[in-house]
Amino acid sequence: MQIWKILSLLALAGCATTAPLQLGSSPPQLERHARAPDWQKAGPEAVGWLQEYLRVDTSNPPGNEARAVDFLSTILQKEGIAFERIEHAPGRQSLIARLPATVTETGEREKPLCLVAHTDVVTAEAAQWPAGKGPQSGASDGTFVWGRGALDMKGMGIIELSTLIQLKRQGVPLRREVVLLAVADEEVDNRGMRELVEKHWAKIGCSQLVNEGGLGVTGVLEPGQTVYGISVAEKGLLWLRVTAHGKSGHGSTPLPGRAPDRLLDALQKLRERKLVAEVHPSVYGALAAAGKLAGGVKGWVLQRPFWVDHVAMGALMDEAGSRAMLANTCSVTGFSGMFEPNVVPSEVSAQLDCRLLPGKEPIDLLTELQSVVGDDKVTWQVLHQAKATESPSDDALFRALARRAIEGQSSVAVGPLLSVGFTDSMYARQIGVHAYGFVPIAIDRSLAETMHGVGERIPITEFVRGLGVLYRAVVDVVAAP
Ligand SMILES: [Zn+2]
Repeated sequence: MQIWKILSLLALAGCATTAPLQLGSSPPQLERHARAPDWQKAGPEAVGWLQEYLRVDTSNPPGNEARAVDFLSTILQKEGIAFERIEHAPGRQSLIARLPATVTETGEREKPLCLVAHTDVVTAEAAQWPAGKGPQSGASDGTFVWGRGALDMKGMGIIELSTLIQLKRQGVPLRREVVLLAVADEEVDNRGMRELVEKHWAKIGCSQLVNEGGLGVTGVLEPGQTVYGISVAEKGLLWLRVTAHGKSGHGSTPLPGRAPDRLLDALQKLRERKLVAEVHPSVYGALAAAGKLAGGVKGWVLQRPFWVDHVAMGALMDEAGSRAMLANTCSVTGFSGMFEPNVVPSEVSAQLDCRLLPGKEPIDLLTELQSVVGDDKVTWQVLHQAKATESPSDDALFRALARRAIEGQSSVAVGPLLSVGFTDSMYARQIGVHAYGFVPIAIDRSLAETMHGVGERIPITEFVRGLGVLYRAVVDVVAAP
C-alpha cells in the first residue's frame, strides 16, 4: 500500500483538531513483562534478520512469497514457534505462526491478536539506487538499512516477528493467542489476505490486528516535532469505465456530438464537480492532536471541530493531500478507444479511480457522477467497488498502540488517521475485525517518499526503538500479570 498517502493526512496536520483522545494508562502489573527484553542485545539481532529478509527477492510481480515464508519459518523453527504455510498459487505462500495462550481462564477467552505484514514488495529500478545500497542489498551503513521493503513493509514484518519471539523467550504469560500473519501479494492484488479472510479466518480467529497504515512523521508542524498517525479507516473505491458514444466519421470535418468530444465534455464536468467536505471523526482527532502540539492560535483552532469547519476548511480543501481525506474524489487514470489520426471513433472511454469516504455507498457516488455529466450518450461500467472500512478508536489495542508510540518522548502527538489508500486491513475489517495501521517508527517526509521510490531505507535507531514500542503495546493487550 502507499503509506506515503497516509502522510497527506499528517500534511494537513499543519492545520488540525478534535476532542482529546483518552489513551488511558498501560496496566502497571504488566510493566515487568513490558520491560523484560534487553533491546541492546535483541536490537542488533533483529537488524540482522531485517538485512537478510531484504535480500530475499519477493518483488511483485511476480511475488515468489514462498521465499519469504522459507526465510521466516527457519527463524520460527529455531525458536520453537508453530506455523503453517498457506499456498494460493505456485510459489505464492502466506504464513500463519501462533503463540498459544498459556493462562487458563474461566469463562470465555478473548480472541487472538493478529500481527499482519505483507511479504511482497514493489519492483525497483536498481540502476538508480546508490552503489552498494541496492534494492536487494540489505546493506547497512551504520545509520540506515537499505533495501526495497525496508519501510514497506519488511521492517514492520521483522518488528512483528521479534515481538512474537520475545514474548516466547521471556515466557510472558498470555491470556490470548498471538498470531503472526505474513501475507503474500498485497502490492498487486491482495490475493493473499483475501484467501486468509475467505478460507482460513475460522482457524485464525483474530478479533483485532495491527498492520501497516500509519507511522510517525517528523517535522510536520515544526522542526523537531513528530506526529504519529494510527490508521483506523481506509477510503472505499469505485473504479469506472466511462464511455462516450457518437457517430463515427472522418476527422477532417469537426461535427458536434461525436464520441471524443462528448467524453471531453463529460470529463470537464467531472473535473468541475463541486467537492463537499465531510470531516471524518478521525480527521478531527488527528487535527486535535496536531493542534495541541502546535500551540498558539493555530493549535487552538485545530483542537476545536467547530472552528476547523469554519476557519480551516477552506485551506484544507485547497490542498490536494487533505482534500483527499475530506471528500469523495475521482482521478482520471487512463483512456481507451481507437487511435487512427483521421478517424473519429464511434466510442471512446476513460477510466476513473474514485475514492469514497466512510459512509458513502459506491452506488450513490455513481448516481451523483451520472447526474453531473447528464448525457445519455455516455455509459458507465463499474470495474470494481468497495465501501470504506473503519475500526473504532475506542479500542484497547488502539489505545495501547497510541500510548506506547509516544511514551517517554516530548514534542510528539498521536491521533487516528483516515487513509486515502487501502491495505489488507480492508478485507479483515469487512468481516468485523478491528484493524489498526501503525508502523512504530518516525521518519521525515523525504524518507517516507522512498517507499515505492528510489533508495528505500529505514533508520536503524527508529527500527530498534520500534521493536520495543510494538512489543510493549502487544504486552498491554495480551499478557496476564
Ligand atoms: Zn505496504
